[in-house]
Amino acid sequence: MTRKERYNAIFEWFALNRPVAQSELHYANPFQLLVAVILSAQCTDKRVNMVTPALFARFPSADKLAAASFDEVYPFVKSVSYPNAKARHLIAMAQMLVADYDGAVPADIDALMRLPGVGRKTANVIASIVYDQPVIAVDTHVFRVSHRLGLSDGSTPRAVELDLERHIPVSQRAIAHHWLILHGRYVCTARNPKCPECPLSAWCREAFADKEEVAAEVGEYLAAIDRMGII
Ligand code: SF4
Repeated sequence: MTRKERYNAIFEWFALNRPVAQSELHYANPFQLLVAVILSAQCTDKRVNMVTPALFARFPSADKLAAASFDEVYPFVKSVSYPNAKARHLIAMAQMLVADYDGAVPADIDALMRLPGVGRKTANVIASIVYDQPVIAVDTHVFRVSHRLGLSDGSTPRAVELDLERHIPVSQRAIAHHWLILHGRYVCTARNPKCPECPLSAWCREAFADKEEVAAEVGEYLAAIDRMGII
């Protein structure tokens, strides 16, 4: 099977069987989505959704968060991963939004990536969901699933992103990100992929293979670059 045939089969299946796919983060506006995505690095959406209602109620806008101290923000985020760094990033991000963008979330990916706590993955999520730009955010799930399925052999999130964008039509890029994340979260999980139940196994390069080793390697690599704020 060629890579093109694999892409065609897999994304045709998703289009037919998963016509609706969206972020599992809870948010009401672009600012809240940006905060939630920053908090979600190396953390589950479920955990983030537990802390954001109180955080958003206390700091409903960029100017309110920009004026907050670390000690005021930390208690709201202390149960997510890396709470110290994330509390500092949120305040600095809000301060830059107020200083440079009148408190609004910019649409430009380079502008988004200037914001503290925002790497390429987060910038692409915002650009795709909020501004409907045809980009694909590559997080740990998208990276792992793309490799296993045989959609990409890229060794970095950026290389996988470029492979996916090369093959997936503009009209499907926004939803493709959600298809791959949700598939990775619920079916093609890092340690125990559910190959016998997987609807994509007929086209998957690594169906039923032993994935313990590659999962560990990919997980360690992504955790390291995520900690550095690269994705
Ligand atoms: S067949 Fe297995 S490895 Fe392939 S995508 Fe499905 S769960 Fe993942």
